[in-house]
Amino acid sequence: MKEKRKKVVVLACSGIGKVYGALARETAYELVEKVRPKITKLICLPLLVIGDPEARRMVTANPVITIDGCPKSCAHKSAESQGARIARSYQAINFYKAHKELKPEGIAELNDLGQRLAEVSAIELGGIVDVLVAEEED
Ligand code: SF4
Repeated sequence: MKEKRKKVVVLACSGIGKVYGALARETAYELVEKVRPKITKLICLPLLVIGDPEARRMVTANPVITIDGCPKSCAHKSAESQGARIARSYQAINFYKAHKELKPEGIAELNDLGQRLAEVSAIELGGIVDVLVAEEED
């Protein structure tokens, strides 16, 4: 039987109380729900932290993109500690540095510019997802 097509796992920090945490989260949602829904999978960070077997299997069997909201890099470090195949790691503040016209504000909910920044960043990450999937299929 043919092996199921690989997915790119997206892991965002929980980012509670920080605007770039909210941006990390919203970018991950945009990427997985709208930009590349068929070839990405969002994993809940706390599930991975507690060592859930299925979450662990997903991050060790597939390439992983981590998105963090501050230099504490919780998503990246949690993935690393579970032996994940980390393919790319991002700090959400760099999404803003690349699009200074879209200044994110808000914590529980991003303002309109922040939401637009999440959309634009997710579209850019979609290109990275395509590269990673193509590498898997080589
Ligand atoms: S990386 Fe920073 S913003 Fe994200 S969960 Fe950790 S401490 Fe919070």
